[in-house]
This record gives sequence, C-alpha cells and structure tokens, in this order.
Amino acid sequence: MNDRFRGTLIGLAVGDALGAAIEFRPPGSFPPVIGYRDGGPHNLKPGQWTDDTSMALALADSIALAGWNLNDQADRYVQWWQNGKYSVNDRCFDIGITTVSALRKYAATGDALTSGDRSNYRSGNGSIMRIAPVPMRYGHLYASDLSKFSSIAEESSIPTHASEQCLSACRYLASIIAALIHGKDRNEVLSPNWKTLQDLETIKPLDPLIKEITQGSFRTKQPPAIKGSGWVVKSLEASLWAFHNADSFEEAVLKAVNLGDDADTTGAICGQLAGAYWGEGNIPLEFRTTLARTDLLENAINGLLSP
Ligand code: MG
Ligand code: MG
Repeated sequence: MNDRFRGTLIGLAVGDALGAAIEFRPPGSFPPVIGYRDGGPHNLKPGQWTDDTSMALALADSIALAGWNLNDQADRYVQWWQNGKYSVNDRCFDIGITTVSALRKYAATGDALTSGDRSNYRSGNGSIMRIAPVPMRYGHLYASDLSKFSSIAEESSIPTHASEQCLSACRYLASIIAALIHGKDRNEVLSPNWKTLQDLETIKPLDPLIKEITQGSFRTKQPPAIKGSGWVVKSLEASLWAFHNADSFEEAVLKAVNLGDDADTTGAICGQLAGAYWGEGNIPLEFRTTLARTDLLENAINGLLSP
C-alpha cells in the first residue's frame, strides 16, 4: 500500500512533467512524447513540472500542517501564485484563468467558501489535477464513511472550482484513487456497477455529464472524440480513457500526454490513477530519477503520512 500511496503523488508529477513540453499543442502536431523534453510554453528543463504539481504540494502541506481548512488551502495557493512557493523554479509561471480569478477574490475577501466560481461555464480541470492529497490522507474513509470522504473531496475543489461539474468530478475521481490505493481492482472501480459509485449517487447525484463518464463513455470513445481538453468533463474522460486499458504506468501516461492540448494536466490526472494502481515501483526508474525537485514531493508525502 505504501508503494501505491507514494505512486499517487509521484505519478501526478511525472505525468505533469511529461506533458509540460507539449502543453497547448494540437494532437498530431508534435513527435510523440516518450520521455521528458525541454522547452514548451514555459521553457522548462526536462523533468520539471508545472502548476498541477505545485497546487497538489500546496494542498498536501495544508492538510499536514492545518488539518482540513479551506482558507488555509487558499492561503497556500495564494503563496504559490504570488511568491512562487511550491514551484519547481520558485516562480509561478502558469496559472489557470479560473484559478487566478478565484484567488484574486479570495485575496480580497478571505473566504474560500465563496471564492470559486459556481458556474458550469467555469469548469476547468484545475481541481481534479491537484486532488491526490485527498485520497492519500483521507482515503481510509472511502470505505467506512463515504459521505464524509466525498464531501471532503468536493470541498477541496470549492476555493477555486465550485461548479457542480467540478465538484462531481472530484467526488468520483477521489473515490477511484482511494479505492486503487487500497488495492481494489481496476475493472471493479471503473465499472458502472461499482458499489461505491452507486453509493456516491445515493449520497448526492453526480452532475449528468460526469455521470455519463461513470457509465463508461471512456470505453466507447476514441480520439478525436477523446480530447486532452482543459474542461473538467473531457479531461476526466480522457484520463480514464488512457488509464483503463493500458498495461503499464508508462503506457497509460504517455497515451494521456500524447493527446496534446492540456497535455500536462491530462498526464497529471492519469498519473495519479496509474500511480495509485501500479505503484511507485512500476513507474519507470528513469522517470523517477530525472524528475525535478523530488525533495518537495518527499516532503509532501511525509507530511501526508504523519499523524
Ligand atoms: Mg500545468
Ligand atoms: Mg495544464
């Protein structure tokens, strides 16, 4: 279980770093990614990761140091945005539009419960990309108190992404990752008949577009219907598409990033799933040893492990 626990956060960062050099590039417009590259829109070095990992590190630090506290989470996102804390190179060089407008509002009001936009038109993938610390720290609750677990998962979205689509995506994705960390079978947790999914629906119905994904849209579609989009619905679908029938961590995450467009984020979401399922030990050694700032990842993992 420790291997899957660690794999969840390390997988996120590896997927993020693999996609970083081709973020915003249309599918088919770049030589397929098979490892880290330099360049891209942020001109990073090979193995450096982006906002997806930075926000996950901020969330992990908050949970470790302040317990479950949305204002503290938002404070740390602001420290990243304004001071470059949690960044791979001490600068905030990329931030989503929905995220920055929410953090601006939070900086003015100090209220993380109302800072995120509730409109479904502002449903970016910025909260599912960073969710790993939630199933890592609170994952034990998914089996014993799903109602509590799913409300923590959706609350994690609220400071920046408060739409129903984003909240539903967080509840579903966090539950899958928690179950994988706890050793559940991939086919079971991705099935429309998964008992936990039915319980999630009973606690509070999922947004209809997220529900379509839970019913297996990622099995029946192929690219170009599957897109590495910044929209939470397409992004979650694409990540599950890449994960569901791959034979290894590497295959899953490379399929995700090679969709292009929001490649780092599709990679980060798929990397959480694949890392939770196959574990750190099955992430290619080369991806782990050349990943940037693993000290920050280790610090986050230790914080999430400590009581
Ligand atoms: Mg990014
Ligand atoms: Mg991105």
